[in-house]
Amino acid sequence: MERIEEKLKILADAAKYDVSCSSSGSKRKNNGSIGDASFSGICHSYTEDGRCVSLLKILLTNHCIYDCAFCVSRKSNDVRRAAFTVQEVVDLTMNFYRRNYIEGLFLSSGIFKNADYTMERLLRIVKKLRTEERYNGYIHLKTIPGASGELIQDAGLYVDRMSINLEIPTEEGLKMVAPEKDHASVRKPLAFVQNQISNFKSESKLIKHKPLFVPAGQSTQMVVGATPESDLEILKVADDFYQNYKLKRVYYSGYIPISSDNNLLPAIGTRPPLIRENRLYQADWLMRFYDFKVDEIVHESKHQLDLEIDPKLAWALRHPELFPIDINTANFRTIIRIPGIGRQSAMKIIKARQFGRLHEYQLRKMGIAYNRAQYFITCADSIINIGHTSMDWVRAQILQQSKASQKYLPQQQLSLFV
Ligand code: SF4
Repeated sequence: MERIEEKLKILADAAKYDVSCSSSGSKRKNNGSIGDASFSGICHSYTEDGRCVSLLKILLTNHCIYDCAFCVSRKSNDVRRAAFTVQEVVDLTMNFYRRNYIEGLFLSSGIFKNADYTMERLLRIVKKLRTEERYNGYIHLKTIPGASGELIQDAGLYVDRMSINLEIPTEEGLKMVAPEKDHASVRKPLAFVQNQISNFKSESKLIKHKPLFVPAGQSTQMVVGATPESDLEILKVADDFYQNYKLKRVYYSGYIPISSDNNLLPAIGTRPPLIRENRLYQADWLMRFYDFKVDEIVHESKHQLDLEIDPKLAWALRHPELFPIDINTANFRTIIRIPGIGRQSAMKIIKARQFGRLHEYQLRKMGIAYNRAQYFITCADSIINIGHTSMDWVRAQILQQSKASQKYLPQQQLSLFV
């Protein structure tokens, strides 16, 4: 038992750098077996910098034949190594699940011997869990780059989500820090799985009881700030992956320096770019749900997102000619582009205005961030509109408001035991 605990310590610790896990979107229902995968997240674990990640999040092994400079498991790194057996991962998952410690498994691995050797073990774990243990909870499996299509195809029948990390956003960046790897070995399996997902979906319309194949889709992760790619480049890559592989999510992981051996990477002690990471998530959200194009989000001349304000506000301030927008007549697509108004509130606005022109107090009641939106709209009783003010003034007002509200927020995470 002690040996397992030791392995768990090493292999859960090594897995914490991968943020590409969340369980949302799975359709796996309880069918008389043990457990099911809930529609929303399983984020019960926190990384050192406070981000929420899922349990049970482990590597099968942190041995690796590769030497990617940004990775704690790289072969040249002097860390303690361990590897679980197939049965150990199965037992840990079932024991934790039965005790209600976890709602799912996030399983990744370093690469020992070669890609197929490792992928075959991962496949045995997920197959055993589903067929022998009748485990029906959530499984997110990391595909091993370079593994054969047959193994990936088989694994897809047992897992909810698959992902394969792009790691460094551009091929040039990747070559700098991981010369043995390339983007093709990520694109190929993503395309293969995407193709299989579409085939299974169309066949399930014709064939009753067609098994599920990666029902929660695929995702990838890009490390931000390890190599010099701009936000424009990063978002273009993400957009390409959303378009071509229909990914559910692209995760952006601010690089946490872990190595002093490579002077191409930020030195140990450099703070992870957490605000930049957050702005990329906001930009990603705008692409996926607000119909923004990359070149609208990032200013072509700067190539970087504004760290002081969110990308939607930054876009609005660059386009005074589009404002103010009359909330009582604009269409849905126009309303969701107004800073301070989200999709839910936009829907409420469209419904409510059928009964009369909307006033400020009604907009506030609908939950829009009126303090922000007021500069960009007209409603039945508007006072301010952007046509009478300068962009710099609006930016300054909004920044001042947000600084004032942050003054009252605790600067550190609160203790659970106060
Ligand atoms: S192949 Fe994966 S686990 Fe191995 S060193 Fe590279 S990033 Fe790390």
